[in-house]
Amino acid sequence: MTQIRALFVASEVAPFAKTGGLADVVAALPAALAAEDVACRVMVPGYPGVMAALRDAKLAHDFNELFGGAARLIAAKAGPLELLALDAPHLYARSGIYGEGGADYPDNAFRFAALAYAASAVGQGTLENWRPDVVHAHDWQAGLTPAYLHYGVAPRPVTVMTLHNIAFQGKFPKDLLAALSLPDESFAIDGVEYYGDIGYLKAGLQFCDHITTVSPSYAEEITTAEFGMGLEGLLRARAHHLSGILNGVETRVWDPASDPRIPARYDAKTLATRAKNKSALQQRLRLVEDENGFLIGVVSRLSWQKGLDLLLEALPALVEDGAQFALLGAGDKALEESFTSAAKVSSGRLGVAIGYDEDLAHLIQAGADAFAVPSRFEPCGLTQLYALRYGAVPVVSRVGGLADTIIDANEMALQAGVATGVQFSPATSDALRLALLRAKRLYDDKPLWRRLQMNGMKTDVSWKRPARRYADLYRKLLSSRAG
Ligand code: ADP
Repeated sequence: MTQIRALFVASEVAPFAKTGGLADVVAALPAALAAEDVACRVMVPGYPGVMAALRDAKLAHDFNELFGGAARLIAAKAGPLELLALDAPHLYARSGIYGEGGADYPDNAFRFAALAYAASAVGQGTLENWRPDVVHAHDWQAGLTPAYLHYGVAPRPVTVMTLHNIAFQGKFPKDLLAALSLPDESFAIDGVEYYGDIGYLKAGLQFCDHITTVSPSYAEEITTAEFGMGLEGLLRARAHHLSGILNGVETRVWDPASDPRIPARYDAKTLATRAKNKSALQQRLRLVEDENGFLIGVVSRLSWQKGLDLLLEALPALVEDGAQFALLGAGDKALEESFTSAAKVSSGRLGVAIGYDEDLAHLIQAGADAFAVPSRFEPCGLTQLYALRYGAVPVVSRVGGLADTIIDANEMALQAGVATGVQFSPATSDALRLALLRAKRLYDDKPLWRRLQMNGMKTDVSWKRPARRYADLYRKLLSSRAG
C-alpha cells in the first residue's frame, strides 16, 4: 500500500481552538489515520491559541498578501499533529474564533476564504516538498476549498468535504464574489450561488469529489427537507457521492481507568468505585447525597438543536418522581437563565453549572447513572460515546449519530444481551420524560443495569474503525481517479 498524503482544512483544532465536536475530530483523526498509512497535515487559522502552541515552527510559504494583509503558512508540530498554521494577523489575531460577545466578526467571509484559498494553493502544489493526494475540508469554514481548486490549475487533488453540522452554512453577499477571487461564472446554481448569496458550504458540497457526514443516519436525514436545511436538493442529487462515517473518541483522554480529572478511577470490573464519583458530583452541584437516587447527567451546548428546552419541560414531573439532575452547559442566554432558575426551585435535585468546564464534564460522565442527550438533530454526538465508556447509560433521541451508536434496551436487545441505553422518538418532552422513566425502571433492576453499563463500556468507540473507513474512501477515490 502506498502512503497517502492528506491535507485537512478546518477552523478548529482541539485543544487550541475549540467550540465543539469538530475540534475533537480534527485533533484525533490524523493520528488514527497514521496507522492506516495516511500522512496528514492539518491547516488551521493562526489564531493566538494556535500560534502559541507551535513547536519547531518553519516558514512553509509566504503569500505576501492575502485578502488585505500579510499572510504566511507556518509548518509546525503541536503535540502529535503536523500543523500548517495560516499566520495572517489582520484576520486571526483576535480573541474569538468566530466572533466576540455573541456577534460574528464582520469579515468572516474573508477570514475563512483565506483559509480555503491557502489550502487550495497547497493542493495545487505550492509547497516545495509536500503535495497532498487528498484535500479534506471540514464544514463551511473550509467550504470554498473545493471551489478554489475547481477554478484553479490542474492537476487537482481528490477532494472530500465532511459535514459536521449542516445548520451552519456560511452565507455571504454576492457582491463579494470578485473580492473573494471567485470568477464571475462561479455565481451559478451549479457553482457557489446559494439562494441569491454565496454559500460556502454549498460550494464545498457542489465541487468536492465526495461528501461525508459523521453518521450513516445523518447522511440519510440530510437528504430530507426536515433535516437538510435547504441543502437537501443538492444532497439528493449527489447521493451517490455521500456517505456517513461515525466519529470516534479520544480513548486515552476519555478513559475512566486512567482519567486524572475524576476523584475515583474504575473500569468494568471495579464499577462499584463509581459511587465515589457520584457522591463527589452530588457534593459539587449541591445535590442531596443519596447513593441510590437516580442521577441523570447532561453536558451540552445550550441550543435549540440539543433539545434541552424539552428537558426543562419534563423536569418537574421527573424531580417529583425522585430523579436528580447534574447539568453543565453554556450557550443560549434564555436557556441558561431558565436552568438557573429551575435549579433554585428544585434545589438539591437539580444541580446546574453554567459555563465551559472540562473537569466537571468528566466528573458528570463518571458520576451520573444515566446521561441524557435529547437532541432534535445530531450529526454524530460525542457525549453519548463518552457516556458509554464511563458506564453512564445514555438516554437519547433516535436521530442521526445517536440512533447509530446507542442500542435501545428493548425486549429483543435485552434478550440478546446487546442493549447499551435507551432511545426515544419523537424528540418531545413527553417522549423524553417517558424514556427517563423507563431508564429509571431499568435502573431499579440492579443486575440488568449493570449489564447495560458493561455492554456500553466494552463498545469500541475508538478512532480505529472510522479511520480505516476514511482511508478506504481516500484509496477508492484515488483509484477511481487513476482509472
Ligand atoms: P456539538 O459539537 O454539537 O456541541 P458534540 O457532542 O459532538 O456536540 O461535542 C460536544 C463536545 O463539547 C464534547 O466534547 C462535550 O464534552 C463538550 N462540551 C459541551 N459543552 C460543554 C461544557 N459546558 N463544558 C465542557 N465541555 C462541554
